[in-house]
Amino acid sequence: MDDALSLTVLGCSGTYPAPGGACSGYLVRAGGTTVAVDLGPGTFANLQAHVDPAALDAVVLTHEHPDHWLDLPVLRNAFRYVLDIRDVPVYGTAATERLATTLIEELDPTLVWHTVGPGEPVEIGGLRFRFGLTDHPVETLAVRAEAGGRTLLYSADTGPAWDPGDLGRDVDVLLCEASLRPEHEDQVQHLSARQAGTLARTVGAGHLVLTHIVPGIDPDTQRAAAESAYGGDVSVATTGAVFTI
Ligand SMILES: [Zn+2]
Ligand SMILES: [Zn+2]
Repeated sequence: MDDALSLTVLGCSGTYPAPGGACSGYLVRAGGTTVAVDLGPGTFANLQAHVDPAALDAVVLTHEHPDHWLDLPVLRNAFRYVLDIRDVPVYGTAATERLATTLIEELDPTLVWHTVGPGEPVEIGGLRFRFGLTDHPVETLAVRAEAGGRTLLYSADTGPAWDPGDLGRDVDVLLCEASLRPEHEDQVQHLSARQAGTLARTVGAGHLVLTHIVPGIDPDTQRAAAESAYGGDVSVATTGAVFTI
């Protein structure tokens, strides 16, 4: 289990946290390496239930929208002022770095920022990451994570114009946003569950996990819509769920 690529859901509410929930954040783990991918509001509390913060190898942030990274400043509070954890690599866009620097002022010595973009592979311990631009109003990185011949693809936030290209090859699990009700399809750069299902079918994903469902939208309705477009089994992310990939 420790060697296998796995996905742990720290939060999965879209746009704002549901009561008792948290916004987007996940642990991606393999072979003793643990990386937090997105750190939305509420996720750092949940992270501590799954991993000793000192064992966190890196943070990857998909984009600058607050529901995807606003627990970074409080993680830095904990690491800087209480836990004395230093030199944690953070991978993200230049715009997210600007906002993080505005809020945190001094990233050093706690966080070491690496600006990343499409096509730049990043190796973190036993995990290999690649990134691609999605269809969203700000620079947003889809994340492909591989270890031991298994692959996770995370859509981050995207509209239907996203083409995963070679990030979409041999995807075992597609973690895909499904923010929208069907009647809101194509009105904003997010996906409905039907569109998430279509994307999973297009990339030939082995399994589809829906996430970023906006509070008030029924997860079972989203699952059914995704299943009929995808033709395979669909899970809906819940906080604390662990998927072995
Ligand atoms: Zn979002
Ligand atoms: Zn967004």
